[in-house]
Amino acid sequence: MNIFEMAHIPLNKAIEVMQLDAGAAAIIATPERTLEVSIPVKMDDGSTKVFTGYRSQHSTVLGPAKGGVRYHQNVSMDEVKTLAFWMTCKCAVAGLPYGGGKGGIIVDPAQLSKRELEALTRGYIDKIAPLIGEKKDIPAPDMNTNAQVMGWMMDEYSKIAGQFEPGFITGKAIGVGGSLGRTAATGRGVVVAALEALKLQGIEPYEATAAVQGFGNVGSWTAKLFCDAGVKVIALGDVNGAIFKADGFDCYDVDAYAKKTGSIVGYPGSKPITNAQLLAMEVTVLAPCAIELQLTKENAADVSASIIVEGANGPTTPEADEILEEKGVLVIPDILANGGGVTVSYFEWVQNLYRYFWTEKEVIDKQTEMMIKAFQEVHAKAKEYGVPLRVAAYIVALGSIAEAMKIRGMV
Ligand code: NAD
Repeated sequence: MNIFEMAHIPLNKAIEVMQLDAGAAAIIATPERTLEVSIPVKMDDGSTKVFTGYRSQHSTVLGPAKGGVRYHQNVSMDEVKTLAFWMTCKCAVAGLPYGGGKGGIIVDPAQLSKRELEALTRGYIDKIAPLIGEKKDIPAPDMNTNAQVMGWMMDEYSKIAGQFEPGFITGKAIGVGGSLGRTAATGRGVVVAALEALKLQGIEPYEATAAVQGFGNVGSWTAKLFCDAGVKVIALGDVNGAIFKADGFDCYDVDAYAKKTGSIVGYPGSKPITNAQLLAMEVTVLAPCAIELQLTKENAADVSASIIVEGANGPTTPEADEILEEKGVLVIPDILANGGGVTVSYFEWVQNLYRYFWTEKEVIDKQTEMMIKAFQEVHAKAKEYGVPLRVAAYIVALGSIAEAMKIRGMV
């Protein structure tokens, strides 16, 4: 089964449980539009290399497509289509006026010079320009793309459009229209969702412990904001390994250490553990915030946490979901838990359209309010239909999308 088919398993459960109109279900099953492009780049050694890029617009039913651009050697059409589908559902769950999109280029950016990376980025925008725009499809960063890449994309698109176009892309640096609060936004949303789940279980934050897999943007902010909330973070992991500290980490200090050394491994006073031990750690909350397919049928039975909050996209396979449900683990699904990033991207877009900027406090307050509302809506649907939060999140998303399809005369 490929990742696109796997992603449809909870969707199909939701379609069945809510008895969604067959036409709406058929429309949601496939992307509206997918583009494959070839991007020639003059390399530093004088040769020309042609790269392959993609952009998939899964849905524009609720608004313009929205989603990041990933640079990775394993990018594929299936992966981009799946990520675009998740964006459609994530935006709908968060209550944003967006559809879903995603893009990617097959490239290992570590192999390119800065000039080659800029040329590739500009070439990609030249090729997908007819499809994108602030009211059509709004890209953002994803794996291996950052505020600098967004800056080049914004510049290239503005040249093509013949006018300043900050609203066509989010995740920009503050100096060219970025939003305060965007860097921490995904981790903040993960923590807000986890705290809501703790509340449901009658656990105070100071009574809870957490393990966080991944210490990049999402994982490091999740860990730091858990510390701020009073949750004791006892295990952390990254691609190089994992570490344990029974009396809890000062995650800001671990972050400073990781920035200096390139990894959390070796943090003074910590005990090295394996990634498998981290995922099986006896904690209240396990937060997978690294990559997809981490909890599988091989290791789901070992999970000891009572709550899993998915900072990463797709960290849990459908087989693992079944095992976790049987064990009574509350899984807060990715399309709810990590929607904080796109929520603040939406705020960035709104600020760009108005050319009026908010304070960080305004951003955080509005984000927190929207995340709590989304969590409560999904939880209420889970109770109404007697289904896990993942299926409930798809029911919420499909409900809004199908209603818009009906009003628009599509079904
Ligand atoms: P990142 O590249 O900043 O960090 C990834 C982290 O995962 C790094 O610490 C890396 O060492 C670790 N990692 C990689 N492979 C690993 C492995 N095999 N085992 C353990 N750790 C591993 O990426 P990010 O932006 O933090 O994104 C992480 C996940 O969250 C991805 O699934 C991404 O799609 C998702 N996500 C990110 C955002 C965002 O705003 N950045 C928003 C929504 C979802």
